[in-house]
Amino acid sequence: MLTCKQFLQELNEFLDETLDPEARAELERHVNECPNCWVVYNTTEKTVKVFKGMEPQAVPEPIRARLMDAIERKCKARREQRGGSVEV
Ligand SMILES: [Zn+2]
Repeated sequence: MLTCKQFLQELNEFLDETLDPEARAELERHVNECPNCWVVYNTTEKTVKVFKGMEPQAVPEPIRARLMDAIERKCKARREQRGGSVEV
């Protein structure tokens, strides 16, 4: 049985998916049984995913569309604040 300390030491490799399947299975078992490590694992995994999402081609289309929409609306609002003068 893995300890929390061991789990945290292996966490990076676990997320990198560089671990061999046996070690992965051990960590998976621990994370399913230990709420503390589950929270750490979950938070770290999300952070890693956000970082990976920063690559331009990795941004999913609906999110990009929403971003563009938000930017456009912001620009429009700013234009209207200036009294309707149209600037392109
Ligand atoms: Zn633990």
